Amino acid sequence: MKDFINDHEIENTLDRAKNPDPMHIRDIIDKAYELKGLSPKEAAVLLQTEDDELTGEILRAAHKIKKDIYGNRLVLFAPLYIANYCTNNCLYCGFRRDNKELNRIALTMEQIKKEVQALEREGHKRLLMLCGEHPERSSLEYFVEAIETAYLVKTEQGGEIRRINVEIAPLEVNEYKQIQKTGIGTVVLFQETYHHKTYRILHPSGPKKDYLKRLSAMHRAQEAGVDDVGIGALFGLYDYKFDVLGLLMHARQLEKDCGVGPHTISVPRLEPALNAPAAIKPPNPVSDHDFKKLVAILRMAVPYTGMILSTRETPAMRDEVFSLGISQISAGSRTNPGGYYEDNSDAFRAAQFNLGDTRPLDEVILDITQRGHIPSFCTACYRLGRTGKDFMDLAKPGLIQKFCQTNAVFTFKEYLLDYASPKTREAGEDLITKMLENTFKTKRKKIVSDRLKKIDDGERDVYI
Ligand code: SAM
Ligand code: SF4
Repeated sequence: MKDFINDHEIENTLDRAKNPDPMHIRDIIDKAYELKGLSPKEAAVLLQTEDDELTGEILRAAHKIKKDIYGNRLVLFAPLYIANYCTNNCLYCGFRRDNKELNRIALTMEQIKKEVQALEREGHKRLLMLCGEHPERSSLEYFVEAIETAYLVKTEQGGEIRRINVEIAPLEVNEYKQIQKTGIGTVVLFQETYHHKTYRILHPSGPKKDYLKRLSAMHRAQEAGVDDVGIGALFGLYDYKFDVLGLLMHARQLEKDCGVGPHTISVPRLEPALNAPAAIKPPNPVSDHDFKKLVAILRMAVPYTGMILSTRETPAMRDEVFSLGISQISAGSRTNPGGYYEDNSDAFRAAQFNLGDTRPLDEVILDITQRGHIPSFCTACYRLGRTGKDFMDLAKPGLIQKFCQTNAVFTFKEYLLDYASPKTREAGEDLITKMLENTFKTKRKKIVSDRLKKIDDGERDVYI
């Protein structure tokens, strides 16, 4: 595949957008309100806006777009790291080959079962499975077996994993087909930085050196029949404005070549990691102010693409950006293999990076519920085949609200009954009551109330 990221073109687009005229900025903001998205050129103008008042208008627009399309729901998942062996040497990652102080682990299937049991007992239904890149310790066969093992784990109160997304080093088409057969949801892969020279410097050895193999991976996944793919950039490695445009170019190319853009965009920011020079001293740190701005601009540019925020961010920062466009979050995460079932006091020695939000799932749920967001464990769309282009066709006329909001209430109710602490249960029931009064119209209100009653009576895995 041809390399579709042209560094000069992105730099020129950013240069030409410098010192934007306020009228032009407001025209672009007005266009974003129409929910038709923005071109990379228009996004560049917003990225070059430094004026506080205009930046405030950008954040307000993103807030409204998020509310109109996604309502108040936040989908929750947990990352499951199964192995930390790696042949690559990414200068920002604790798993890098040259980090001799890392405790290397590849979980056995028995240990994976224990991890999944621990996650199910917290209430999780959705996982993101990941590992380092290693031909023997993290082979494709091992990864496939790990997915199959995790799906089979059942615990009391109907505890089960209903969707596993995966984040795995670039594969060939036939290999993606093998993974797809296990019934996964989204295949996620971050380009880290779209800037070629910086990419080369940060990935000095190992298969990840190959920029184009990584850039083209989501195309191969789609060719293999994976409907939902997720892209991302690791902010802090290069100029964030460049990488936002890189993400938009990538999204546009996927849409052009595969008929549908990415299902999600992730916005990780660099965190400190053991013996990882580029993480300890980020080459291009992104301030909180700029981070909020970039989330808002992505929301405006690709309004129907889900946006994922991880526990790399602190609770305070997470709270600020939820309303600017985030639709999925991880919670209660560990980045050291075995970290869920084993309380390892020396976890950092096996972890990929430090976490900004270390609260358990129930605490995160209480917090977001009190702030008016509805936590969702919904997996309905992918189980009903509403994926890829079908999902986008459905999302565009505003149906996300109809299905997703309703399923969020059902899965949240199940969580409240089966796993929540008394305090969270009380706050959650209050929120559901308020939503029944204010969010749903008469006919839907009846459907929701009837099904909630069934859940109260013991029915589980209710969705529409
Ligand atoms: N090893 C595979 C790869 O590199 O694609 C699988 C995913 S890796 C375990 C998950 C992601 O963690 C990487 O793509 C990178 O963006 C992110 N990451 C690595 N080091 C990080 C750090 N210090 N802070 C935040 N995120 C980091
Ligand atoms: Fe390995 Fe991925 Fe970490 Fe790079 S980011 S060192 S490939 S685990």
